[in-house]
Amino acid sequence: MDLFSINNIKDILFRHGFHFSKSLGQNFLTERSVCEQIAEYSEICPDDCVLEIGPGIGSLTSVLAEYAKKVVSVEIDRSLLPVLNETLAEFGNVKIINNDILKCDLASLIENEFDGNKPKVCANLPYYITTPILSYLIESGRFSSITTMIQKEVADRICAKAGTRDYGAFSVFAQYYTQPEFLFTVDKECFIPQPKVQSAVIRLKVLQTPAASPKSQEMFFKVVKASFAQRRKQLVNSLYSAFKSELEKESIIEILSSLGHKPTIRGEELTIEDFCALSDVIYSKVQNIKF
Ligand code: SAM
Repeated sequence: MDLFSINNIKDILFRHGFHFSKSLGQNFLTERSVCEQIAEYSEICPDDCVLEIGPGIGSLTSVLAEYAKKVVSVEIDRSLLPVLNETLAEFGNVKIINNDILKCDLASLIENEFDGNKPKVCANLPYYITTPILSYLIESGRFSSITTMIQKEVADRICAKAGTRDYGAFSVFAQYYTQPEFLFTVDKECFIPQPKVQSAVIRLKVLQTPAASPKSQEMFFKVVKASFAQRRKQLVNSLYSAFKSELEKESIIEILSSLGHKPTIRGEELTIEDFCALSDVIYSKVQNIKF
């Protein structure tokens, strides 16, 4: 079945009485070459298992099924199940699970569906919950790579380097656990209905060990979060807001100076290594803190 012909798509959706849900981020791909590029960049081998999030009517799913040994797709919208039954009927290696990905127990899913083998994630993610889904997948540590279409603005943030406008707490989080690559942008004309925002495909190769080794990971992320909480503030003031019960402002200035930072430095100027060093010093001074 040609899932990339607009007339076919409209016909299938009409026959099943399907209505697009904006709140579920339903913008379906109509361009086969984009799906092929996602599969190619995922470097899927015939023995690979793939987890897809949000199959929609199964356009990307059908292409992934041609490359992988097995594809498991988690779709929240029950009304798409009869559609997927029809559109993916010819693929014996695809399983659809009707669930919210954020409610899936990933450990059991991987154990039951992939015999415990680390799958690759491929998706055209719903834009309204891109960051919660990526955080959930990355933190689980259960995937070797994540190749996905997301809002271009979020892709820019994930890949941003220290000192740039787009660099923020989520850049640090993503780059701590993965090696992100911005792959390509995708025109609005490649979707039905067309999204309001720009889209891009990124690949996150999950690192074997995180990019830094802080003494306390909780402190590391507390420091990162605090440093970006008020972007226009100098780092000393942002840190003071977060640690005022534990540290005097003078001590924070001393800590920054001991690490070679000017008192006027802002959070966005710090690299992951800088955050690691900073959080280690703060940790050594405030060990009794509750996270
Ligand atoms: N993969 C399809 C494609 O490329 O044409 C559809 C992508 S569409 C941008 C996002 C899909 O994710 C929709 O099918 C939507 O129903 C589904 N979805 C939204 N929220 C979800 C969630 N929390 N868990 C699983 N699927 C979700």
